[in-house]
Amino acid sequence: MTRAAQVIVVGGGPGGASTAWQLATLGLDVLVLDRARFPRDKTCAECLSPQASRILATMGALEAVEAEAARLTGMLVRAPSGDVIHGEYAAAHGFRGFRDRCLAIRRRTLDAILVERARMAGARVHEGARVVDVLRAHGTRGRATGVRVLDADGATRDLHAALVVGADGLRSVVARRLSLGARLPWPRRLAFQCHVRGLPGVGLLGEMHVERDGFVGIADVGGGVTNVAMVAPAGVARRGLAAHGSPAKFMEAWLSRAPQLAPRFAQAMRVSPVRATGPFASHARRAHAPGAALVGDAADFFDPFTGEGMYSALRGGELLAPFAAEAARLLDAAHADERRAARALAAYDAARRREFRGKWTVERLIALSVAHPMLVNRAARALSRRRDLADLLVGVAGDIVPPATVLNARYLWELFGVRADGTAARATTFQG
Ligand SMILES: Cc1cc2nc3c(=O)[nH]c(=O)nc-3n(C[C@H](O)[C@H](O)[C@H](O)COP(=O)(O)OP(=O)(O)OC[C@H]3O[C@@H](n4cnc5c(N)ncnc54)[C@H](O)[C@@H]3O)c2cc1C
Repeated sequence: MTRAAQVIVVGGGPGGASTAWQLATLGLDVLVLDRARFPRDKTCAECLSPQASRILATMGALEAVEAEAARLTGMLVRAPSGDVIHGEYAAAHGFRGFRDRCLAIRRRTLDAILVERARMAGARVHEGARVVDVLRAHGTRGRATGVRVLDADGATRDLHAALVVGADGLRSVVARRLSLGARLPWPRRLAFQCHVRGLPGVGLLGEMHVERDGFVGIADVGGGVTNVAMVAPAGVARRGLAAHGSPAKFMEAWLSRAPQLAPRFAQAMRVSPVRATGPFASHARRAHAPGAALVGDAADFFDPFTGEGMYSALRGGELLAPFAAEAARLLDAAHADERRAARALAAYDAARRREFRGKWTVERLIALSVAHPMLVNRAARALSRRRDLADLLVGVAGDIVPPATVLNARYLWELFGVRADGTAARATTFQG
């Protein structure tokens, strides 16, 4: 059995590139396998949360990304009632991120930059290499010892490593083969995304328009191009596809029904195909198994509304690297210490739960509101009148404000205790 690398990372998206960069920088021999060839597109609203810039800077990628990206200073969310919430990343609450702007950039550009940084750190990257199985010691139950790859020419080959990292996104083959993946029954939504040119009114704010039958995100992604990402409940999407015949026609019809959007989209020109994906919600029971770990969407992704999956994937790589390095070295030794390696990987899982738990709760509460127009209208009425509360929520979405700041009785009281005239039952200021 020949060893291909100390660590095989399956997937070269933000999660895989970040993990590979970190591990290569720590001196490990890393091989990244991706079924795609970069640059490649990925269905995404393409907004990188402000805090992601810190990790891009660490990876030496920030300058290249900033040269291509549009900068967004905050978010505008329009509820079905027409109430508009406006929140900024740099706000009076005093919390400050590494940057106070979100970078919006096409994934074909961003991901190519990131995977190149991993390569420059010393990772080898094989593109056009689809992983179809995880190799296990002792048949199907033992620890992961490598992967089976289907090459572009149809040939398969087995590649062995001390550790396998599944960074292969939503329908992760690594998670499935190791029985780690678990689809969540709710929310079941499908996304339709494309790029347009000439959309009037696009500015420094990312826009989110919530309608009764879904929502759409709109963001300048640089070079005069606007990203349009529409998300609908699976039932609405299936009926829409059946009625309109194609994702593009369904998306056009959906946008033309929103009175504030129709005149704008009438002036825009679509410059990419409409890409469809979903349902998304999945959450691995554990982000590790003997000889393997999961990172990014392969470990969990909930809903594109709060959509900071790229930050979680980049940060996940940062969290995983020291534990993965320890586990790989323990498993690579002449007498592999499987117990200590398993403990290192379990410690990674605990670290990511500590890190993301608050954000997961906020995501679920927001997804719940978005699914119920009455709730979202109620929250929007309050937030449209209380900029301080809106700034905090946008700050949480941007990974600048700790989730605990909004996950408490005081914030919820301020939010739902706001009277129709915009004054709070009891005025309080929130400070970072
Ligand atoms: C509609 C929508 C909008 C979103 N908007 C945003 C947003 O605005 N901001 C944000 O931060 N996040 C957003 N997200 C989430 C974001 O796209 C993901 O969280 C992020 O891409 C996760 O990165 P990743 O590296 O884990 O996975 P991915 O980016 O999916 O990368 C996985 C990589 O693995 C490769 N791969 C997959 N299977 C295999 C295989 N079998 N063998 C080899 N390679 C394989 C793929 O080619 C890919 O390159 C959105 C998601 C959706 C669906």
